[in-house]
Amino acid sequence: MTIQELIPLGPKTTMKIGGKARWFAELKTKEDVEDAWKFSREKNVPLLVLGGGANTVFADGTIEALVVKVISDNIAIKGNDVTAAAGCILATLLNRCAEANLDLSALTGIPGTLGGALMGNAGQGPQGVWLDSFVVSVTALVNGQWQTFAREECNFRYRESGFKTMPDVILWEARLSLPSRPTAEVKEAINLALKKRLEIQPYRFTAGSCFKAVDGTPAWKLIDKAGLRGFHVGGVQISDRHANFLINTGTGTFVDLLQLIAATREKVPQLQGIEMRLVGENGKVISA
Ligand SMILES: Cc1cc2nc3c(=O)[nH]c(=O)nc-3n(C[C@H](O)[C@H](O)[C@H](O)COP(=O)(O)OP(=O)(O)OC[C@H]3O[C@@H](n4cnc5c(N)ncnc54)[C@H](O)[C@@H]3O)c2cc1C
Repeated sequence: MTIQELIPLGPKTTMKIGGKARWFAELKTKEDVEDAWKFSREKNVPLLVLGGGANTVFADGTIEALVVKVISDNIAIKGNDVTAAAGCILATLLNRCAEANLDLSALTGIPGTLGGALMGNAGQGPQGVWLDSFVVSVTALVNGQWQTFAREECNFRYRESGFKTMPDVILWEARLSLPSRPTAEVKEAINLALKKRLEIQPYRFTAGSCFKAVDGTPAWKLIDKAGLRGFHVGGVQISDRHANFLINTGTGTFVDLLQLIAATREKVPQLQGIEMRLVGENGKVISA
């Protein structure tokens, strides 16, 4: 494992906002994962894992942490069983499975890696299908120890997993069990779902949904009702197409983002929960 210093983080996220990591490393092997954990312990700095950065925005300055990215992306398919590394891009995994007559199309259009999807039990909204329905087990380094968790031990819920509350967890791989379906049908389902998404959602320079739903009411409805569609602070704007997606219009900063969140909450105080992971300069998650 090579530790690099002062590596820009903005380009590694979909919103393209953020400063630099004091330390940064890419993890390709299990030994790299162990070494990263040891390094963060020795330096006594937070260990932050980054997947595709589709749900993460970093502060503008230097993040005093070791930021790591699992880049192992192996996929092994045997019958209906798929073993995939946490660094796999979810879209690549979907397509590889489709080629093998396996259907993971329910997760179409969710940017990022398998690791990020496991952490947040990614899926298609409260009534839709979530990743956990396909999980058999997950292997991770937790506080320096390798562990394999059966699905029931992962404490998956809507957009949540038990991994979120574990100390220093680096997800390594997952075993999935997928239903059989002919390749052509799966590809058609993927294309259809992608087309639908692109009609209603922006997909660039955003970290996806910002606010959590309030008592079952989608956040976008409340934001829309308050007339905030298109409202902006500096270079961060509430999307014209989807009122719960915040967009970096080109010059957006973390401070702009926080101010826009605060301004939105002034008009809609119920919006307390945040879906995005906002990381402060001290390496601590401001809200998750
Ligand atoms: C346009 C757009 C649309 C979206 N639509 C959806 C949607 O429909 N449904 C949905 O659920 N989400 C959606 N999202 C949010 C995002 O795509 C998901 O949360 C995704 O699972 C994040 O994956 P990531 O790899 O980018 O995670 P990151 O943002 O990099 O990280 C997210 C969390 O996962 C953790 N993590 C990532 N990899 C690992 C690992 N190997 N080990 C330990 N922890 C890890 C990080 O520490 C962090 O806590 C959308 C985002 C965008 C930008």
